[in-house]
Amino acid sequence: MDRNEKTKNDVDLIVIGAGAVGENVADYATKRGIRVALVESDLVGGECSYWACMPSKALLRSGQALRAAQRVAGARESVTGQIDPVAVLARRDSFTSHWDDGGQVDWVNGAGIELIRGRARLTGRGRVEVGDRTYCASAVALATGSVPALPEIEGLAGAHPWGTKEATSADHVPPRLIVLGGGVAGTELACAFASLGSQVTLLSRSALLKSEEPFVGELLADSLRETGVDVRIGATPFRVVRGSSGVVSVTLEDGSALEAEELLVATGRRPHTANLGLEELGLETTLEVDDTMLVAGTDWLYAVGDVNGRALLTHQGKYQARAAGEAIAARIKGEPVQVEPWGPHVATADHRAVPHVVFTDPEVASVGLTEERARAERLSVRGVEYDLGAVAGASLHADGYTGRAKFVIDVDRGVLVGATFVGQDVAELLHTATIAIVGEVPIERLWHAVPSYPTISEIWLRLLEEYGRP
Ligand SMILES: Cc1cc2nc3c(=O)[nH]c(=O)nc-3n(C[C@H](O)[C@H](O)[C@H](O)COP(=O)(O)OP(=O)(O)OC[C@H]3O[C@@H](n4cnc5c(N)ncnc54)[C@H](O)[C@@H]3O)c2cc1C
Repeated sequence: MDRNEKTKNDVDLIVIGAGAVGENVADYATKRGIRVALVESDLVGGECSYWACMPSKALLRSGQALRAAQRVAGARESVTGQIDPVAVLARRDSFTSHWDDGGQVDWVNGAGIELIRGRARLTGRGRVEVGDRTYCASAVALATGSVPALPEIEGLAGAHPWGTKEATSADHVPPRLIVLGGGVAGTELACAFASLGSQVTLLSRSALLKSEEPFVGELLADSLRETGVDVRIGATPFRVVRGSSGVVSVTLEDGSALEAEELLVATGRRPHTANLGLEELGLETTLEVDDTMLVAGTDWLYAVGDVNGRALLTHQGKYQARAAGEAIAARIKGEPVQVEPWGPHVATADHRAVPHVVFTDPEVASVGLTEERARAERLSVRGVEYDLGAVAGASLHADGYTGRAKFVIDVDRGVLVGATFVGQDVAELLHTATIAIVGEVPIERLWHAVPSYPTISEIWLRLLEEYGRP
C-alpha cells in the first residue's frame, strides 16, 4: 500500500457493512490512528443485533427459565401459570431496541468513525461507490455478512416462507409451525416457538446438528420430542403450496403431507457477495483470506466475518475483526505485521478453537475438533465421554438432569483438542475448555485445576479420570 495515497484518499480504510464485525474492524483500526469510513445499507448493528443472536436468544430465554424452575422440586409447585408469549415478544423487542439503530449510530459517531448510509459497490482498487459518490481509500474491508440459502423445492419461494429474519422478528406466534433444517438456527427456533405455544414439526434431512459429536443430535431430538416437537429425521420436502386460506402445505418425498400457518426455512447461509462488484474487478465471489483476512491475490482488500465463510458466528467474526483492524492499520502506517500463529494480527483460533453454543434445551456447547474431525486430520486422539447427569453438581442443579460430555485428547501431545457438553446450562462451561485448548494446557497440569464441589464443572475431573492419569 502506498502511504502517499493518504493525501488523495477520502479516508485510509473503508469498511463495507456495519454489523458487529464491520463495527469492530472500524473501531480497532480507528484506535490505531487511521481514518475510517463505515458504509451500511440497512440498520447499523447488522443481523446479530436485530434478526439473529439477540432476538433468537431473547425468544428462548423465558422458556428456559420456566423449565429450569419446573425441574426443581419445591420450586416446581409454585410454577402454576403458563408462558406469556406477548410478554416474551415485548422483551425480545426491547433487546432489538425496537429495530432502531440510534444507539449504535451514536456509538459509531462517538468512536470517531465516519458513517456513510447506502449500498456500497467496489469500482476499482480502493474505490467504493455509494449512491452517486465514489470514495477512495488505501484499503477496503468487506464485512457484508451472509444471506439465507433457499433450497430448490417446488413452490417454496412462492409460498413466502419465513426465513430466520421473519422468525426472529415475528409479531405473533403461529398455532402451527413447520421448520425446515436441523442445524443451529432450525433447532433453536423450533425450541423457541414450541416454548411459546406453537405446535412445531421439525424436518431434517440428516441427524440434528450433524457436525457435532453423534450423541448431541440424539439427546437433542429426544428432548425436543419430549417437549412436543414432532422431529422427523430423513424427511425431505418435495412440494410446498400456500393455499388461499393462508395455510402452507408441505408434501414430503414419501408422499405424506403436513400443514401449518407458517413454514420456516433454516437450511443454511451463503456469503453476501452479490452486487459488490467483485467479478468486474476479476475477483472470485468465494473470498479466500489469509489469517489477517487479506483476500488472496490482493494487497488492499479484506473480508471479515460471515462473508469469508470461516466461522459463521458473531464472536468469531469479531475476533477476526480485531486481528484485521490491527493488521490493516499496521500496514497502512508501514509498521510490521506479526503473522506468526497466535500473534496480534492473525486469527489463529479459527483453525483450532472455535467455540459455539446452541441455546436449545438441552444446550449444546462445543469447541475445537470432534473425534471424527480430529481423526480426519490424522491426529492421534482418544475420546472420553461421561454422563453429565451423574455429576453431583448437575443432579443438584435440576432433578433428573440429563446430559453428556466428551473430551477429545491428542495423545501424542497430551493436550485437549476438542470438548463437547450437552445439558441444561452448560454454555458457561465452555470457556474453560476454550482456554485449555488455546493455551495447550498439558493434561497432567489439568489434574491440578480443581473444580469446586458441587458444581457441574466437576465434569472436568470425571473426564480426566476416564482418560486416566498420564
Ligand atoms: C437465527 C440466527 C441466530 C444466530 N445466533 C447466533 C448466536 O447466538 N451467537 C453467534 O455468535 N452467532 C449467531 N448467529 C450468527 C451471527 O448472526 C453472524 O455470525 C453475525 O451476524 C455475522 O456478523 P457480520 O458482521 O459478519 O454480518 P452481518 O451482521 O450480517 O452484517 C453485515 C452488514 O452488512 C450490510 N451490507 C451488506 N452488503 C452491503 C453493501 N453492499 N453495502 C452496505 N452495507 C452492506 C448489511 O446490511 C449488514 O448490516 C446467528 C445467526 C442466525 C441467522
